Amino acid sequence: MRKLSAGLVAVGLSLSLAACGQSANGAGGGAAGKDAEGGLVGIAMPTKSSERWIDDGTNMVKEFQAKGYRTDLQYGDNVVENQVSQVENMITKGARLLVIAAIDGSSLTNVLQKAADAGIPVISYDRLIRGTAHVDYYATFDNFKVGVLQGSYIVDKLGLKEGKGPFTIELFAGSPDDNNATFFFNGAMSVLKPYIDDKKLVVQSGQTSFNQIATLRWDGGLAQSRMDNLLSKSYTTARVDAVLSPYDGISIGIISSLKGVGYGTGRPLPVVTGQDAELASVKSIIAGEQTQTVYKDTRQLAKAAVQMGDALLTGGKPEVNDTGQYDNGVKTVPAQLLQPVSVDKENYRKVLVDSGQYTEDQLK
Ligand code: BGC
Repeated sequence: MRKLSAGLVAVGLSLSLAACGQSANGAGGGAAGKDAEGGLVGIAMPTKSSERWIDDGTNMVKEFQAKGYRTDLQYGDNVVENQVSQVENMITKGARLLVIAAIDGSSLTNVLQKAADAGIPVISYDRLIRGTAHVDYYATFDNFKVGVLQGSYIVDKLGLKEGKGPFTIELFAGSPDDNNATFFFNGAMSVLKPYIDDKKLVVQSGQTSFNQIATLRWDGGLAQSRMDNLLSKSYTTARVDAVLSPYDGISIGIISSLKGVGYGTGRPLPVVTGQDAELASVKSIIAGEQTQTVYKDTRQLAKAAVQMGDALLTGGKPEVNDTGQYDNGVKTVPAQLLQPVSVDKENYRKVLVDSGQYTEDQLK
């Protein structure tokens, strides 16, 4: 019955396109599906500078096409205005659904008003879109848990529960315009703060507030410069024992900075966390440099978002498992949260190779 109603809409759509002399398969840019009866889905991703977003985009295109939709996949190159105009174009092209991983979670209010006026539902993908009522569902990972996994890894690795310490630590957070960044930080601090309060963990720079430690647009180069500064100001005599890093690209910047002043040769590198299990970071973990990352299976996230979208377009009810955590300032957005997994040298084969995320060859 659900499919039938989608089919009827599609017949209407192809008739009206035929009347304008357009093909139902041709419009939309990006990849065109074989059976386009489901109509066009606009997918707006933030940047190609991180592997995960490339995979998210291509996985969603595959999944949507398998369900008979056409797709328009666009990347905003981390520039807010690009993303806004890409979403505007999707609306103009007649998208029936928008799936958006925002660059700046609070900058889409106007363009989503246009989507609402055109009756187009919106799925917030991975990052919560803030400050608008026009976001219907949210597909993401348990973002607080990501931070808990990072913080707990540091606690376990340093042996803090066994009473070891004190140790020095420096804290890094993600982009202040990304709602996830505070969730990661709060999750990590829920574990680390008691040790900081007990002086078992000492933030030698004194920089502990989110605003002091945030990294605009998750930029690894910025993180590297901040680490250079921390090392030259606060670690002329002391050594760094641990660094809380929220994302692999930031971890790589931090590690370069540390290596620049002799960590990893004369003295051991600190415990450095991360997120996304990007190829460069998994290799770094295997080489004994980065210590940990958090793997989020974006193949599963793409599936979850596509199921939500398909349900929305065919009169079904999207599956959600959280209706309380994600308040975007205007409404609490119903969310489907997937589970992140901590990865280090001990379990990377089991988590990343056995699951088919990477082949052994890719990790050489
Ligand atoms: C995502 C992370 C990613 C970060 C930087 C966050 O919103 O949840 O997986 O590491 O953005 O791209």
